[in-house]
Amino acid sequence: MERFDAIVVGAGAAGMFCAAQAGQAGARVLLLDNGKKPGRKILMSGGGRCNFTNMYVEPAAYLSQNPHFCKSALARYTQWDFIELVGKYGIAWHEKTLGQLFCDDSAQQIVDMLVAECEKGNVTTRLRTEIICVERDDDGYTLQLNGDTVATKKLVIASGGLSMPGLGASPFGYKIAEQFGLNVLPTRAGLVPFTLHKPLLEQLQVLSGVSVPAVITADDGTVFRESLLFTHRGLSGPAVLQISSYWQSGEFVSINLLPECDLETFLDEQRNAHPNQSLKNTLAMQLPKRLVECLQLLGQIPDVQLKQLNSKDQQQLVETLTDWRVQPNGTEGYRTAEVTLGGVDTNELSSRTMEARKAPGLYFIGEVMDVTGWLGGYNFQWAWASAWACAQELVDA
Ligand code: FAD
Repeated sequence: MERFDAIVVGAGAAGMFCAAQAGQAGARVLLLDNGKKPGRKILMSGGGRCNFTNMYVEPAAYLSQNPHFCKSALARYTQWDFIELVGKYGIAWHEKTLGQLFCDDSAQQIVDMLVAECEKGNVTTRLRTEIICVERDDDGYTLQLNGDTVATKKLVIASGGLSMPGLGASPFGYKIAEQFGLNVLPTRAGLVPFTLHKPLLEQLQVLSGVSVPAVITADDGTVFRESLLFTHRGLSGPAVLQISSYWQSGEFVSINLLPECDLETFLDEQRNAHPNQSLKNTLAMQLPKRLVECLQLLGQIPDVQLKQLNSKDQQQLVETLTDWRVQPNGTEGYRTAEVTLGGVDTNELSSRTMEARKAPGLYFIGEVMDVTGWLGGYNFQWAWASAWACAQELVDA
């Protein structure tokens, strides 16, 4: 039976980075994955260009039952550290919006970099490997694989969450946590499009592909100002993905479709200048024409000239466009979600090392635990930071 200083399960963002760091510091590391290729989510990320971090990373951008847990790791391995690493590999990048950093060329460059970092650390990588069972004794952990058995003092679970099962997502990490008596918080899809109830969905389907800047507010008061996209299934776009992580089934969200316009003042000014102008054409100066036409067909925008718009109707219109209350039917679920909320309870783990208090030598890093970032590179930064914190501990062994 082959023994390693550390075995890392999951060759995704967190697992590869952790294995590489520990290996480079001298640990003998085995990296396991059940997939054919490492870093499959990285390749899909950021529309193929990987939004690998964010300039404005801060703990407030992470959801967790314990909002303090992420602070230590994020402070010890920052976005600037990762940017420096990317720079060492000559990977060109750019800031797209809101501090989001993307590769100029391809996400493959990030995967290649992580593979090279693993090689530099002499990490043994085994792909297409199923872990049949994990057992613990006085010497550490024994993993029965399809083929052979391996052992280690330190076992790192970096198997990610449940989103996108097509990219290898599995509940493996949660099952291991439960096997060793750790609490796992209920999971749900995050950063995911909303689906809509039948009548509204059918009414809005003509808008599929229309995108507008919006301010979207959840029932708990969380607000995002980004773009909203109408789709044939419901609502998507960055604003919707962001708020989906704060939305609970049955709740409403409020959407301001005109965040950059003081609609009352605009309508008053337009009425004074062009009283005979149609309300529809006036609103089309601020909103996509297709959206205005659709809302008029739905009776939300009266078919009148500006001079005919009375103050009660104007008030109603302002409310419709700036506080549109939508009750999503649900979300598209793990099939399209970018992340999984919930997971291994951070109260079970050390925020310095990611080690399970109840199971010495067992670590959880990345998305498998109950730390979920906003859209915009925050989730990869958590993968790098939690992996780095854990790797320091593997080295100290
Ligand atoms: P993963 O990267 O999911 O890696 C887990 C690994 O474990 C996988 O390789 C999997 O095959 C392996 N595994 C699972 N179960 C087993 C098992 N039983 N046995 C062996 N191996 C197993 N975040 C950003 O910050 N920026 C982005 O641009 C971005 N874009 C995204 C786009 C998409 C389409 C998706 C789905 C997610 C995106 N995310 C993005 C989120 C980000 O990809 C994840 O938060 C991040 O990959 C989590 O890293 P991880 O290492 O914890 O898990």
